[in-house]
Amino acid sequence: MAMLIRLQALDLRRQQDKEGLEEIPEKLKIAEKPLFEAKGLVEKAQAAIDLVIKEKKDKELALQVVEDKIRKLKSRLTDLKTNKEYHAHLQEIAAVNKEKEDTEDRLLQAMENVDLLKKELAEKTALLNEETARFAKEKEEINATIEQLSKEDEKLEQEWLALSKEAPSDLLESYKKLSILRKGVAVVPLNGYTCTGCHFSLPPQLIAEVRKNEKILTCNYCNRMLYVEAD
Ligand SMILES: [Zn+2]
Repeated sequence: MAMLIRLQALDLRRQQDKEGLEEIPEKLKIAEKPLFEAKGLVEKAQAAIDLVIKEKKDKELALQVVEDKIRKLKSRLTDLKTNKEYHAHLQEIAAVNKEKEDTEDRLLQAMENVDLLKKELAEKTALLNEETARFAKEKEEINATIEQLSKEDEKLEQEWLALSKEAPSDLLESYKKLSILRKGVAVVPLNGYTCTGCHFSLPPQLIAEVRKNEKILTCNYCNRMLYVEAD
């Protein structure tokens, strides 16, 4: 009986370790979530920068076009014959100059946006680096836990095997079956006249037999194997 109690203790510990291992994928997923989010933010910031950089290039091109126009207009100045032509020409130059100013303003705005977004990207990248380091550390801890639990399970299994060799095979079989049926608790102590597995009161005769500790006796109600705890 003492051996069965020890076997059961080993089984319960192994079950706990197994449950601990089963929780790990979920833990990893939770630990990885902020990292994914940080990656998403960096990608978004990078995409925004690409967009304004393209806008800036477009504005630079537009400015070149306007400047070319101005040059051509000015070179035509000498071809003008009448006063009227001359005035019309000045008006044209004024209009193109205005266009140039507007384009320059837009270019400046685009340059400011690039600077702003670069700052934002730097912030998000710093955050991503932090999260990467944090996740690496957490993963390391989780891996250490996996290793520790696996090692412990191996040790417990060896203990279990060594211990079970001492048990008669039919007793071991009934223990195993009962353990599965009763969710790992096949062997229970009495509490006075009560089975601590199902909490039913048992007949005094049975209690007296269990106290003698001569053979394996089971609860009338839940079938668990009964013993009396040493004082
Ligand atoms: Zn019972």
